[in-house]
Amino acid sequence: MLGREVRADSRKVVILGGGFAGCQVAHDLEHEFEVTIIDTGGGFTHVPDALKALAGFCTPEANHVPLVKLCPLSTVQIVTRMPELALEAKVVIIETTNGGAAQVPYDFLVVATGSSYPSCAAIRCADDGSMVATDYHQLARQENARMSQAKEALVIGGGIVGMELVSEVAARFPDLHVTLVAGRSGLLPECPPMGVARARRWIARRSNVRLIEGLRCSADEGSTTAFTCETKAGHAESGLHIDCDLCYTCVGIVPNSSFLRGTELERRFSKKGFLHTDEHLRVMPDVWACGDVREKLPEQFLASFAHWEGEHVSEVIRATATGGAMPRPYRPAPRFAAVSLGPSDGFLAYDDWTVCWGRLVPLIKFMIKFMIMRFWLPTMRIMRWMPHLRQRSPLAASFQASSDCTRPDPARASFQQCFQGQARGAKVIL
Ligand SMILES: Cc1cc2nc3c(=O)[nH]c(=O)nc-3n(C[C@H](O)[C@H](O)[C@H](O)COP(=O)(O)OP(=O)(O)OC[C@H]3O[C@@H](n4cnc5c(N)ncnc54)[C@H](O)[C@@H]3O)c2cc1C
Repeated sequence: MLGREVRADSRKVVILGGGFAGCQVAHDLEHEFEVTIIDTGGGFTHVPDALKALAGFCTPEANHVPLVKLCPLSTVQIVTRMPELALEAKVVIIETTNGGAAQVPYDFLVVATGSSYPSCAAIRCADDGSMVATDYHQLARQENARMSQAKEALVIGGGIVGMELVSEVAARFPDLHVTLVAGRSGLLPECPPMGVARARRWIARRSNVRLIEGLRCSADEGSTTAFTCETKAGHAESGLHIDCDLCYTCVGIVPNSSFLRGTELERRFSKKGFLHTDEHLRVMPDVWACGDVREKLPEQFLASFAHWEGEHVSEVIRATATGGAMPRPYRPAPRFAAVSLGPSDGFLAYDDWTVCWGRLVPLIKFMIKFMIMRFWLPTMRIMRWMPHLRQRSPLAASFQASSDCTRPDPARASFQQCFQGQARGAKVIL
């Protein structure tokens, strides 16, 4: 039977945010619980392809699916103002279409509101309700039009998002010169060496891409088009001046948690506002957090981790509601990242290995998107069945074993080296 059998004693689960993490929880629980998803963005966005939409390789709408389609048994509330929480009364207060307020009661609350790049709304807007999906689609189109007319673009940040943005834009607009400034951690610090080498070769082959490493870049006072890159802020002699028509800042990710300020949950904020969780991803009794809004290692800000965290939260909620046995504490699986280098190249990193590269990678990414957006459940079931993904290599063990790598170690050039250092001494936990 496909429909939900809501029992009289059915407990209420409210999920804030219908992204990778939130949808996973909804999927897992909607047959047994009364699930409500509250989202400010207007639907599920396949964020990994946001850059393709920006460059014009696909439409912004192609990355968007209505939540009711993905989670047919859940109640979906799309709001344009951030929800408010009354934790003691266990209700979420949302606006109604006529401007009033409605209370959504819960037994279990899941915060899965993700994170954003506030300095670059075209990449990932601050999902605070100030921008609904249609605004975002409009913005992506405007940005694409600006790119087609620009001569010089600057991308700040040599992580996966910065590198993918450069590769999509440079491939789409061959006459646009793109400068990628990777800070002190260099290019793709979280990726395996073979993948990084592939990315470097890709850059070297493009006449319209320039890579600058080891410098910090900031806008000149009062300007949005003039930038100075230095080894240290204010270090004039190391300065390199860059003039550009467009600049994208792909660093400084912030959690979408500002709406929790003033509530008890604020006490569980990290310095940057990410939510601290325990070994079962619980923030406080009956409140869980999963996905990019949760405090975790930088390498884990990926859709696959959001999925696995969502899966764990559903298991814990189910056990809590039924009084059943708790699952084992959450352990992150090895990292699984498909990095595209334009539309016809890329590499697939599994933990600290590059397992595949070349034309196959964009194809794999396309297949993943196609499956997720059309057949969420079977796709996620496949992921669950892939035993390899759940095994823990020394590097993955070190993710958990060490909290030292949560902050960059100035003595090491990158997180990757930090992890490798930890991995050498780490025990393998299977
Ligand atoms: C440009 C880019 C490229 C990426 N590429 C990859 C990639 O190739 N592979 C990969 O694995 N990962 C990639 N990532 C990371 C991946 O997209 C995230 O890790 C993943 O989306 C996190 O899932 P989430 O559910 O935590 O958050 P999201 O998917 O961001 O979902 C959060 C949801 O919460 C909603 N929301 C926000 N604020 C509120 C609020 N106050 N109230 C209610 N709802 C709210 C939003 O509308 C959204 O629907 C990329 C990220 C970016 C930005």
